[in-house]
Amino acid sequence: MRDPLIILGTGMAGLGLARQLRRRDPQRPITLITADSGDDYSKPLLSTGFAKGLTPERLASHSALGVADQLDAVVRTHTRVTAIDPRARHIELGAEILPYSDLVLALGAEPQAPFALPETLTDRVFTINDLDDYRAFYRALNRHSGSARVAILGAGLVGCEYANDLCGGGHEVVMIAPETAPLARLLPEPLGKALGEAFERTGIELHTRRLLERMEAGGDRIAVHLDDGQVLEADLVLMATGLAPRTGLAARAGLETSAAGIHVDRYLRTSAPGIHALGDVACVAGINAMYVQPLQASAKALAATLSGEPTKVSYGPWPIIVKTPALPVVALPPAQEPARWRLEGEAPNMTALAEDARGNLLGFALTGDRVRRKVELARASPALLG
Ligand code: FAD
Repeated sequence: MRDPLIILGTGMAGLGLARQLRRRDPQRPITLITADSGDDYSKPLLSTGFAKGLTPERLASHSALGVADQLDAVVRTHTRVTAIDPRARHIELGAEILPYSDLVLALGAEPQAPFALPETLTDRVFTINDLDDYRAFYRALNRHSGSARVAILGAGLVGCEYANDLCGGGHEVVMIAPETAPLARLLPEPLGKALGEAFERTGIELHTRRLLERMEAGGDRIAVHLDDGQVLEADLVLMATGLAPRTGLAARAGLETSAAGIHVDRYLRTSAPGIHALGDVACVAGINAMYVQPLQASAKALAATLSGEPTKVSYGPWPIIVKTPALPVVALPPAQEPARWRLEGEAPNMTALAEDARGNLLGFALTGDRVRRKVELARASPALLG
């Protein structure tokens, strides 16, 4: 019998690819392997669940068993792949060896912790990057009978979305970030400040330009020490201090990788024959976009390629919609450093246009009621990967 096509990872990239492949070929043996529970869920919904009081069960649309059934595939959960041997065309799960016909790496990205966590705090300091993490945080929140004080480290997209969502769910939220305003990588400062003001209006306590110095258990609470000497108290801490592509397995197997991900070309081919990569782990022709539309386009193109129709992936000018109901935000970050940002409007309703020296639009950022311009401006912007 033909060796299976093996997909490592059952996030939106791995499952999206498996679904596209099944549409094209109902017969091909497919095996999916994941380190987590393998439940089918939409990761973007993790940061909208607390305001709606959604249990982890409500966030999963199918269990791993349901996925296996639906896709007529083998799904192995809570299973960590330990090595890849590209020459022998097999993967290793500890002592077990599994040969593949083709291998696809959809291993996602891993939360980065800015420091080693003291052992006394491991049950109170969290990251939420998959449904299992959501389950653990949800349980911890429920121990605080309805309202917890949560300190969030980091004010990027993930930190901002959880802050707004937890606040909407009736929790007290404190945010700590070294930048001068939230969403510093997506928004010019005046728009970031508008979001910060909107957060403060909803009751979020914002500490910008502050670094965390240390955390320690202080009775029931955690004492969060900042670099200016302030000590904030919290029941729980949520770290949202960045994600890094999980390149370790690929790098150890000799594939070309960097901090931006596993390097692939526009056919999603890695530097090793028979191995492809997509999703948050992949740096496609120099770009690792880390959001859903690019990975969906990649899944579609790769399914065609793996079914015998080599297909290059293209990314359109797809803006990022930040889920912060306190102040709607949409951004299409420019691929290159703009000559200038042109700002229009006043907080909280602002437009920022990134332009090159000739006045060509390279990207944009919108807040408040200006988000309605997203379609018009996206049409005028360059494609991410044209
Ligand atoms: P993941 O979902 O991380 O999947 C990785 C898989 O690899 C998992 O199954 C994991 O168990 C498995 N794995 C890892 N290591 C191993 C191993 N050694 N062996 C076996 N399996 C392994 N994008 C948007 O476009 N819009 C949004 O609104 C949005 N909101 C977001 C909100 C949050 C809170 C977060 C964190 C992200 C959000 N994103 C959003 C980004 C988007 O969710 C991600 O780009 C996407 O889910 C990544 O999918 P993935 O399949 O590449 O990775």
